[in-house]
Amino acid sequence: MEAILAVIVVILVLVLFAWLKLFPKIAILASLADKPFVCPNCGHRFYVKWYQLIFRQFSVYTYNKANFKCPCCKMHDMCSRPHDC
Ligand SMILES: [Zn+2]
Repeated sequence: MEAILAVIVVILVLVLFAWLKLFPKIAILASLADKPFVCPNCGHRFYVKWYQLIFRQFSVYTYNKANFKCPCCKMHDMCSRPHDC
């Protein structure tokens, strides 16, 4: 019984440390998600959630563009940042 409790405590501590390590990364992603993207097809401006930027942050950093599905025209395309932002 005590062995099971010890294993549960170890797992909880590991999960906690994983979250603490992840937290600054989430803050960076949240700041990236602060600015809108513009659809090249219809010009619709939309905001994305930070978790949608996890696999796209490289292209956002490098090209200021990322591949998203537009919520207006439902097209997948390279959406860029508006120039006035
Ligand atoms: Zn669109």
